[in-house]
Amino acid sequence: MEIENIIENLKEERPYLKSPLELYERVLKFNKNCEKILKNQLQNSLLDQIIDEFSSIFEIPYEFSSFLKSSILNSGKDPFKEPKIILELPISKEESSKEEIKRTLFILSKPFFKKYRENLKRKKKAEETGRCGVCEEPISLTMIDSNNRRYVVCTVCGNKEEIFRIGCTHCLQRICEKIDLLVDEEEIRVELCKDCKTYIKSFKEEVYLKYKDPYLIDIISLPLDVVAQERGYIRRSPNIIGIKEIV
Ligand SMILES: [Zn+2]
Ligand SMILES: [Zn+2]
Repeated sequence: MEIENIIENLKEERPYLKSPLELYERVLKFNKNCEKILKNQLQNSLLDQIIDEFSSIFEIPYEFSSFLKSSILNSGKDPFKEPKIILELPISKEESSKEEIKRTLFILSKPFFKKYRENLKRKKKAEETGRCGVCEEPISLTMIDSNNRRYVVCTVCGNKEEIFRIGCTHCLQRICEKIDLLVDEEEIRVELCKDCKTYIKSFKEEVYLKYKDPYLIDIISLPLDVVAQERGYIRRSPNIIGIKEIV
C-alpha cells in the first residue's frame, strides 16, 4: 500500500490523529516537491523556489514568506551549508505564537537539511556523542531490525545510523536496569532513562513493515509521548511535524 493510502486509512481509523496526520501529508508533499526542485539544481533560485513551495502548501501569507526569505538572506549564511540557521531565525512575535513559528521553521528546514546531509563528507558517530552524526541534534526515534540491531532515525535531517542496542542515546549510560519501558498495543515502545529523564521511541521491523515510514510511526504513537511527558520525561527533538512538548 502507498504511504498516502496508509495515512488516509489511519485518519478514518483514528480520528483523534486527524490533524497531525493532515499536517504530515503536507510535509510529505512539501518534501517531495522540494526533491524535484533540488534535482534541477538551478542554484540561484533554489531558496526562492523552496519558500514559494512552502508558502503554497502551508498557506503562508505573502508578507511572512517574504519576511522568511529576507531573514535567511540577511543572515549572510548559506542555508544549504548551515541549515540550522533556519531553526534559529530571529523572529520575535508574541509568546502565544512562538511554538507555532518554531514548528513552521522546523518544517521549512527539511529540504535544506536533506541537501546538507547528502553533501556532508565526514560524519560523527551518534554512538559516541549521543547526537545525530550529521546534524548533531538530539535523538528521539530508533528502529530495531530483524537482527536486533538498532538504528537512529533523525527527525531533523533524515540521517539513519546504527547505535548500541541497549542504553540511553542521550546520556549514553548502557545499564539495562536504568531504562524503563512503555509499550503500546502496536508494540511501539518508549524507552525512559531514569538517569537523565530522556525518553526515545523504538520499534521493531514488524511495525515498520506495517507502516513503511518511521516518521509516521512516530506520529501515530503520539499518545505515548503524552504518557511519557506526563511522567516527567523529556523528548529532546521534535517529531517530523515539529511537535516536541505536548503536556
Ligand atoms: Zn540529524
Ligand atoms: Zn539518559
